[in-house]
Amino acid sequence: MNHRAREVVIAGGGMVGASLALALAEAGRSVTVIEHQPAGGERAPSFDDRSTALSNASQRILAGLGLWDEIAAEVTPIKAIHVSERGRLGMTRIHAEDEGVPALGYTIINRVLGRILWARLKACEHVELLAPAQVVSVAGAQGASRVVCVQRADDMQELQARLVVAADGARSTVRDMLGVGSRSHDYGQTAIIANLLPRRAHQGWAWERFTPEGPMALLPMAGQRCGLVWTVAPTLAERLLAMDDEAFTAAFQQAFGHRLGRFSRLGARAAYPLALTRATAITAERAVILGAAANSLHPVAGQGFNLGLRDVAALAEVLADAGPGADPGDAALLARYAQWRRGDQLKVVAFTDGLVRGFAPTRFPMPALRSAGMLLFDVAPGAKALLARHSMGLAGRLPRLVRGLGLR
Ligand SMILES: Cc1cc2nc3c(=O)[nH]c(=O)nc-3n(C[C@H](O)[C@H](O)[C@H](O)COP(=O)(O)OP(=O)(O)OC[C@H]3O[C@@H](n4cnc5c(N)ncnc54)[C@H](O)[C@@H]3O)c2cc1C
Repeated sequence: MNHRAREVVIAGGGMVGASLALALAEAGRSVTVIEHQPAGGERAPSFDDRSTALSNASQRILAGLGLWDEIAAEVTPIKAIHVSERGRLGMTRIHAEDEGVPALGYTIINRVLGRILWARLKACEHVELLAPAQVVSVAGAQGASRVVCVQRADDMQELQARLVVAADGARSTVRDMLGVGSRSHDYGQTAIIANLLPRRAHQGWAWERFTPEGPMALLPMAGQRCGLVWTVAPTLAERLLAMDDEAFTAAFQQAFGHRLGRFSRLGARAAYPLALTRATAITAERAVILGAAANSLHPVAGQGFNLGLRDVAALAEVLADAGPGADPGDAALLARYAQWRRGDQLKVVAFTDGLVRGFAPTRFPMPALRSAGMLLFDVAPGAKALLARHSMGLAGRLPRLVRGLGLR
């Protein structure tokens, strides 16, 4: 056993854990990231072939962390969104220029984002990386620190941490180790993701189609490819996954239609069973539950990472404002963070869940919410303003990074 004291220990170096480490380093904190998968991020579950739609708020946060120039070279701007509902006439189109923004959001392949985040982590002098390594237990707070046991190849380390962050995903075991419960609702749906090449150029259009089986979205990607997220019942998902490429492409073409011409060059398919999982608390003694470990959402509104990144920005701001000498696990600081973030989290969960279940609070205009659809919740400022007006006064204070200001 190797006893060493750390300031902040982050369990999980996925999209959210890696972003938090960089934000805390920017806020002047020293951080240890423990990631189950080998360093480099490419095999971490976050960093697979999915594409993520980054909201404008996420773009500003990543810019504030000095990451955007590198990310910008890899993203595809979403210039317009087309929303339709099967069995209903009409559709909605939302254009970036009408919203007064250069893009409604930006898509990036998760694997590429992982490569950028991890290259930065490796170069950051405030960040210590333990990977591959697994957090196997977290003991109760002992005075000024928590005890975190880390299993590496044939070596067990015991770290003292003033703050432990559980960023280990929806099935977080670290959350359990911290004594925080979770509630889960299985949607009985599976998301199939794949990349395809349409014959006609996508020209920055994203498409979302609500169908009785579940929503289908097609995101514009680099190289004129499109990223598909197709939500269906698990039995249909099994059938679609068992098909050869030609049969799957034909089934997709039939469901999507011919707006972009014929699709070809199908990439690898992957499936994600969908559930809403929420931690019963987002802080505990000397601990924060973050990202999918706190809120794992249906991808219909493209919000999981965007929400997690706003949490990252807020936590980094609270710790930066406390000053370099302040105890990062101080209960009052963590309470300030939890109170700040509760509203936004509730709002995003209610909105996403409402979209999936086909209902929304009656004072939300449903057609407008449907139009907001995947990507749009805070990707399109108009939709966000609309939701903010109709939601329960929970819009709240935006982190400095979202407002384009620095952490310090
Ligand atoms: C199909 C699909 C499409 C999506 N599209 C979007 C989108 O467009 N926009 C958006 O904002 N969000 C989207 N999301 C949501 C987004 O992918 C998640 O919110 C995000 O991946 C959560 O990141 P995370 O770092 O919290 O968790 P994870 O990605 O699960 O990462 C957790 C990390 O912790 C590590 N780990 C686990 N256990 C341990 C342990 N004991 N010790 C050490 N390390 C451990 C894992 O190896 C992993 O690297 C989508 C999700 C799906 C399924």
